[in-house]
Amino acid sequence: MNRPSFLDPLPVPTRLVGGEGVSTYASRHATRNFSNVKDIERAVREQGYPLRNARSAPERLAMWRQLGNLRERAFTEPQTVNGNWVIDRALCSRCLPHLEDGMGRLPWVGWVCLKHKRWIEGDEQTDLARFGEALVAERHWRGRLAPRGVVVDSPLLLLAEECATVGISKVVLEERAERVRYPSPGLLVYPETVKIARLLSRTSFLDAILRESPARCKRAMVEREVRSILPDAEDAENWRALARVWDTVLALQDVVRDARWLGGVPEDRWSVLRYWSGFAQFQRVEVVQAHPLV
Ligand SMILES: [Zn+2]
Repeated sequence: MNRPSFLDPLPVPTRLVGGEGVSTYASRHATRNFSNVKDIERAVREQGYPLRNARSAPERLAMWRQLGNLRERAFTEPQTVNGNWVIDRALCSRCLPHLEDGMGRLPWVGWVCLKHKRWIEGDEQTDLARFGEALVAERHWRGRLAPRGVVVDSPLLLLAEECATVGISKVVLEERAERVRYPSPGLLVYPETVKIARLLSRTSFLDAILRESPARCKRAMVEREVRSILPDAEDAENWRALARVWDTVLALQDVVRDARWLGGVPEDRWSVLRYWSGFAQFQRVEVVQAHPLV
């Protein structure tokens, strides 16, 4: 039997939502064509098209691109960015037609669909029309954090969210909770989370904490920066956020010091050192060591 090199698209087209993975797309596309994934894949196999069982096998992605008449870029979102795992997550339910469910990888997006002003983390997506601060934070995410390779659920984001959660004023939290229907903890501190993640991955901040200067000057600078994001208030414990940020600073200094003594490129679990101006020197050292005769 001749192996088909090209499959005709199914008759009813299905729009691919940005970042959507093959699993939910295949299921939606099959349903709209009055069938199911299993039957369609069996029929395609019977035509001689080689198809392994692995869900993300390249031939399966290629097959559904053909059946959906999709561009080559479909289903190619990266698995990792800057060493951070890009999670498979629920897509904005308003972006999908007819209340269908969709899952995908969105490395360039935080937890907000700006088109529909919607929080998309967790089971209960919620409207953000009355919580403009979260929309502004999302714009900053896309403008500043996404180009730095920061993704949701990455260690840097989890650290920033923890700092925001322990350091924010309770009154601010209560006031924000009134403005959204499903006030999840991550949503209520999203503006501060994004600001702290931006601070910790900012070149000028990293340069300041990693240069040779007295520890008290660095400590004063870190205090100033944290207070500008999480101001002093009677019902806030911003010192707890400051303690976490300061611990991070000390850990980064240790990593860099060790790399200077031992050689090699400093690696930090938050993937921020790559934005430090001094990072390039370590990469050059490694190249020289790898090619000693050059
Ligand atoms: Zn949307």
